[in-house]
Amino acid sequence: NCSLASPIEPAKDKLLGGLLSPAFDEPSCLSRYQSAQFWKSSNHTPSPYLLQKLRSYEALHQRCGPHTDLYNKSIDQLRSNRSTGPLECNYVVWLQSGGLGNRLMSLISTFLYAILNNRVLLLSVPDDLHDMFCEPFPGTSWALPSDFPIKKFETRDFYGGSPQSYGNLLKNKMLSNGMDATHASLPAYLYLHLTHDADDSDKMFYCEDAQPLFQSFPWLFLRSNQYFAPSLFLVSQYNDELQKLFPEKEAVFHHLGRYLLHPTNSVWGYVTRYYEAYLANAKERVGIQVRNFPNAPVKFELMLDQVINCTLKEKILPDIKVEVPANLTTSGVKPKAVLVTSLQTGYFEKLRNMYYEHSSTTGDAIGVYQPSHEELQRTENQNHNTKALAEMYLLSFSDVLVTTAFSTFGYVAQGLGGLRPWMVLRPDNQNSPCRRALSMEPCFHFAPAYDCKAGRNIDKGTVVPHVKHCEDLDFRWGLKLF
Ligand code: GDP
Repeated sequence: NCSLASPIEPAKDKLLGGLLSPAFDEPSCLSRYQSAQFWKSSNHTPSPYLLQKLRSYEALHQRCGPHTDLYNKSIDQLRSNRSTGPLECNYVVWLQSGGLGNRLMSLISTFLYAILNNRVLLLSVPDDLHDMFCEPFPGTSWALPSDFPIKKFETRDFYGGSPQSYGNLLKNKMLSNGMDATHASLPAYLYLHLTHDADDSDKMFYCEDAQPLFQSFPWLFLRSNQYFAPSLFLVSQYNDELQKLFPEKEAVFHHLGRYLLHPTNSVWGYVTRYYEAYLANAKERVGIQVRNFPNAPVKFELMLDQVINCTLKEKILPDIKVEVPANLTTSGVKPKAVLVTSLQTGYFEKLRNMYYEHSSTTGDAIGVYQPSHEELQRTENQNHNTKALAEMYLLSFSDVLVTTAFSTFGYVAQGLGGLRPWMVLRPDNQNSPCRRALSMEPCFHFAPAYDCKAGRNIDKGTVVPHVKHCEDLDFRWGLKLF
């Protein structure tokens, strides 16, 4: 029987072109080496320079990781309460902000900042993120240990305007960009406040002459909910290095996300069970992510129309025969699977009913599935986050992806999958229901417009060819890599 003779898939490269270290024990984190089987083949190859950099970063992290001699030395400096200039091991500690998508935006950006500055990335892992991600660096840990001298980060000391914040020290003239901080009587660490509400002083972080200043601080604590990588591409000191690391600018999140973000076995169970049960057998997988933002809600019917109009107009899904009585679909042809993710169940139900009650014009059977509908965002709940991460991964296995403009949840899926999504736009003032993203990179929503040299705001989308404004139409001031 010829239909059984499916072409043999070439074994997928489980180390992703050398991106992943082979040094891990596979069963301890199945997703690390199994994900490649599920993603569409990527035509984005990591540069040899990036691979080299990641291996040397791993060695650095092993040398400086928690409880090593060098780490203990840096801890002594932190306890001494004064700045001593750079040490052998310098750190940037990531602090959470926002939903899972936002957190992953800042995590990837912070890692990029770490490798550009030979800093070690450590995470203050919030309780609701425990046991969700595997350790990404072999033989060490990226989690801030429980005996770290600072125990609490969810305090005013680590939010905007705190006395230890870089922005505040600048404002109070305790610091200035370009100064030699080694000789000044300065605190032992700096807090960088880079969330969407960062003020003009905080945003001086993105200035060229701030970079040498930061180097005098062995400890940086960074809080952001943004994908700030594009702005690092506008800092001249990093130009050469970034060019070598990412000759293909639109693959920054794609490579770094695939390198860093491995769901633990418990999360991976959700992913693989769902995939095998509903998606594996399909001839094509379409992912549709519908996000309704509570602070800028769109009426259900309007959003549903946008989603349906987009998928039909762009021929992502077939139209239905409304008048003709439903007849048999072509037997023996594998169905198309549509994976809907949303906090609500309505979009899924409407789509499923549409293809249940009518036949498609192409004769295709369309299966519509939704893994969960959590109703409300509950980032403080680990089980809720597990589903969010599992669904980001499931979406990333799509052949074609439809996301909601402005949603970082969608950005994670598109970046991991290496997919340029169709972004569903808000229904107001648009003449098109969706727009194809021109690159798979996330958007830096609240990118600074300030030009440090010129001392005024400029259009940052026109400075270099590979940093432009995002296609999420409402967010014309956002920046992304192309
Ligand atoms: P954004 O707000 O769309 O940029 O994405 P975030 O991930 O930062 O925050 C939204 C949060 O709401 C997610 O992290 C989830 O906790 C929840 N959420 C939103 N959409 C979905 C969805 O489709 N599926 C699941 N499981 N959770 C979702």
